[in-house]
Amino acid sequence: MSEERARVVIVGGGVAGTSIAYHLTKLGWTDVVLVDRSELTSGSTFHSAGLVAQLRNSVSHTRMMMYGVDLYPRLKEETGVDPGWHQVGTLHLATSAYRLEALARMAGWAESFGLPIEIVSASQAHERFPLIESKDVLGAAFVPTDGHVDPSGLTFAFAEGAKSRGARMRPGVRVVEIPVDHGRVTGVVIRVRRLANPNSGSTATVRAGSRPCSRAALVASWPSGATMQTDAFLSFELGIIW
Ligand SMILES: Cc1cc2nc3c(=O)[nH]c(=O)nc-3n(C[C@H](O)[C@H](O)[C@H](O)COP(=O)(O)OP(=O)(O)OC[C@H]3O[C@@H](n4cnc5c(N)ncnc54)[C@H](O)[C@@H]3O)c2cc1C
Repeated sequence: MSEERARVVIVGGGVAGTSIAYHLTKLGWTDVVLVDRSELTSGSTFHSAGLVAQLRNSVSHTRMMMYGVDLYPRLKEETGVDPGWHQVGTLHLATSAYRLEALARMAGWAESFGLPIEIVSASQAHERFPLIESKDVLGAAFVPTDGHVDPSGLTFAFAEGAKSRGARMRPGVRVVEIPVDHGRVTGVVIRVRRLANPNSGSTATVRAGSRPCSRAALVASWPSGATMQTDAFLSFELGIIW
């Protein structure tokens, strides 16, 4: 059985998985493989509205969002893929005194670590976004550096950045089991989906099994009878039959 080795295997090619690949490779972990049972962005990332609101109810979550807002404008130049970032600002409306107080409290601590934020009146909120019905609005928090991003564009930008530093993307590969021995992950068992065979025009079904496959055409860069092992975290062994 031929072998492919990887230091890290990431399961899932949504915005989270590709972001992990992007950031690991930035840290120098270039021997990274990302697998997805379908295509990149085929999960909930595809359905996301892509709204990026930094004001969250925990410091670490807010800081992560602030990091994203700092990163998105730079991704196009770095990766060649436009993540579709638009910094248009957001309004967090309050229609109760309790909510307005909560927004003011959050604004206080957000400001303390550098998130620009302004508590505005209902009419000021309406001026900023005339389509809102402000009759019941008591006030709002305005965050000028918030915006929206194209979730698929962002995912592909992360993937491109990761690939340019050596990460490999494997669409059509489903993880079916992660064996654990004495509390340690020892492998990732995968199943490769049904794919068109580009050489014959026919289709071939490939699934986890024990016999190595004899032809390598199926998944372009997947080695025949692949066994993937990793040094640090995960290894996965794949027997392929078709
Ligand atoms: C309608 C909607 C609107 C949203 N709007 C916003 C918004 O405005 N702002 C915001 O921040 N968030 C929003 N979200 C949430 C956001 O989309 C998700 O938090 C985010 O996309 C999650 O990304 P992910 O990479 O964790 O998951 P996914 O994008 O779901 O990626 C998981 C991937 O794993 C793959 N996978 C699953 N099982 C396996 C397996 N066994 N083997 C191999 N691969 C596997 C799937 O194919 C998939 O591609 C919204 C979500 C929805 C549904």
